[in-house]
Amino acid sequence: MQLHNTLTGRKEEFVPLDPRRVTMYVCGPTVYSYAHIGNARPAVVFDVLARVLRRRFPGVAYARNITDIDDKINAAAAREGVDIGVITQRFAAIYREDMAALGVLPPDFEPRVTAHLPQIIDMIQRLIAAGHAYEAQGHVLFHTLSFKEYGQLSGRDEQALMAGARVEVAPYKKHAGDFVLWKPSTPEQPGWESPWGRGRPGWHIECSAMAEALLGETIDIHGGGHDLIFPHHENEIAQSTCAHGGKIFARYWLHNGFLNVDHQKMSKSIGNVLLVHELLKSVPGEAIRLVLLTGHYRQPIDWTDEVVAEARKKLDRLYGALRDLGEVEAAPDVRAPQAFIDALEDDLNTPMALAELFELARAANKAESPADKARIKAQMLDAGSVLGLLQQPPAAWFAWAPQVDGRPTAEEIDALLVQRADARRNKQWAESDRIRDVLKARGVLIEDSKDGQRWRYA
Ligand code: AMP
Ligand code: ZN
Repeated sequence: MQLHNTLTGRKEEFVPLDPRRVTMYVCGPTVYSYAHIGNARPAVVFDVLARVLRRRFPGVAYARNITDIDDKINAAAAREGVDIGVITQRFAAIYREDMAALGVLPPDFEPRVTAHLPQIIDMIQRLIAAGHAYEAQGHVLFHTLSFKEYGQLSGRDEQALMAGARVEVAPYKKHAGDFVLWKPSTPEQPGWESPWGRGRPGWHIECSAMAEALLGETIDIHGGGHDLIFPHHENEIAQSTCAHGGKIFARYWLHNGFLNVDHQKMSKSIGNVLLVHELLKSVPGEAIRLVLLTGHYRQPIDWTDEVVAEARKKLDRLYGALRDLGEVEAAPDVRAPQAFIDALEDDLNTPMALAELFELARAANKAESPADKARIKAQMLDAGSVLGLLQQPPAAWFAWAPQVDGRPTAEEIDALLVQRADARRNKQWAESDRIRDVLKARGVLIEDSKDGQRWRYA
């Protein structure tokens, strides 16, 4: 298996330290608001990588954190006049729901910063003891000059590093490039007791401490969006390497490219920030996922109405082929074609893997013998499972309809239809008609057939 390593700038053979426990850490969301479609890209990309790794190696430990201490969270909580926990639990739950709708499996570990303060404080203490960090005016700072390799990941020299970080020149810093490990909180701000007074951790140290706590001192793969290379990942390397006596922190660094909307960077000022939660009302989650996998993960993606429509058509084709295979049982023990797996094991080449999947759909349309149909069905479903696609019955894909305000969801409709079936069994015809009329008023048509009730959106 080959992976492109940002640390060396090359595609390299991936050899885990211990194939029985391949370790991967991916920087997750800061939960102060809804995730946008760009935030979904690393979640989907590294979900596919985890699936590919699980198929190849006997054990995988995948951690994707939740950042639940952050100044943006504090600001959101202050605006609503609530505790930060109210904000973080709300948006962590929405994030999990939204990612599940995109077919993202939960990671093995989902560490939260608030559950790791002792580990964070302990790591900061070790950095101070080793002479890599110092306390100044209630702050603790990492001394970047104490780590010779600082800048190795981003490949920037000191001057460029400083320009990129727009570092604050603060009186308590020994060197302008030093970054915060711990900072003091005012009485109104959330804070935790520490040897340096009541305060809160900086963002970078959180990931170093959680990766160590769950995955150990040296991890195989570290991932995140391209924007995190500097300063976040550069600082994670500095902290972890220095806390571990010079041991390598992450062996392979993977970074996904950015997602733009209509050729522009998403930004609040342009007003083109697409939230996953909103998009899911008008685009099936699986189509969103397919858009995110249609390009190679390292390349930028341009999100437009056309690519979304294209993704839906492609899924119509794939599900159409599965539907046309009919009731034939997938052949047991038949797995995805080798060419498909080879593509994914070549630095996660999803465009090539998708081309193989479409090749299977074409073969399905031509297949005549039941044995061929059974084989192709098994290959398509297995290949789909590695990409996190094609996991619902074709009928469910074709029944998808956009959410219209006030229109009940399929779950709500099903619940009402259970009540209606009860009413009909008890010959309560008025109640049965009432439920039918309620649904009709909300845009859902019921048909009574000999197989029971069927519904469709009007
Ligand atoms: P944040 O919550 O801003 O820290 O972002 C969470 C993850 O989303 C990080 O891995 C970011 O690199 C990634 N990310 C943010 N914006 C985009 C974007 N427009 N395209 C791709 N990835 C993004
Ligand atoms: Zn991180």
